[in-house]
Amino acid sequence: MFEFLRKLTQPDPLASPLWPAIGRAMPLLHGLSDEEWARLETRMRHFLRHKYVEGTHELTLTESQRLVIAAQACLPIMNLEDKAYDAWSEVIVYPAAFVSPTQWTDEYGLVHEAGQPVIGMARSDGPLLLSLPDVEQGPWLDGRNVVIHECAHKLDMLNGRPNCFPPLHADMSRKAWNRAFERAYADFRNRLYQGLPVSIDPYGAQDPAEFFAVLSEYFFELPHLLHREYPAVYEQLRQFYRQDPGARLPVIGVQPCAQDELTPCHAG
Ligand SMILES: [Zn+2]
Repeated sequence: MFEFLRKLTQPDPLASPLWPAIGRAMPLLHGLSDEEWARLETRMRHFLRHKYVEGTHELTLTESQRLVIAAQACLPIMNLEDKAYDAWSEVIVYPAAFVSPTQWTDEYGLVHEAGQPVIGMARSDGPLLLSLPDVEQGPWLDGRNVVIHECAHKLDMLNGRPNCFPPLHADMSRKAWNRAFERAYADFRNRLYQGLPVSIDPYGAQDPAEFFAVLSEYFFELPHLLHREYPAVYEQLRQFYRQDPGARLPVIGVQPCAQDELTPCHAG
């Protein structure tokens, strides 16, 4: 069937009576203008029509759970193009933290083995894997959002292995991006090395790719905290995501993270 005819015959995934009440209840989406809300819904329709979003291990997703996943996944690309996520088509949701399914080979030929339980994984060979309890905690403004974290990895992978250097817009400076992230990453690791308190999840110190993904979580959930800690990084993320969460979300104070409090994740 022609693509446009197929779309015409598909029901609108946002015609659910549950939407937009679910979205309005998500703190993550507070403060969006009517125009931004409309753009988010456009991205969500595209996402839900083109992605296979299903549970595994006897988990059956509800309509509201799919909407919560789509809303979180589409917020980062609200002002980007639909094709930002076109390189992958599956979202597999586990009933809890999970171990990477058996052995798999990524697009670079590297073989990955099952390891520690994780709450999310952006596999370079395709699917996004998520733990449902963590997905459902995501919309709270606490700096932890596994959907945004894994989607940031997917954006980072658009030009190869995730490395904190996703494809930038034409009007962005590669030099300014590198300088902001390199200085912040060095400072963050240095603070942890010295045992100083930090306000950002120490998991970000794992490697530059995790730093980008973790800071993307803070950009969307605790933008004022990120701006206070690393204003140059905040400015780069504002340009990259083409939005300014600090202008729409409330200022929330947070305590420093415990250094042993790691968020399991794997940027597969
Ligand atoms: Zn990660």
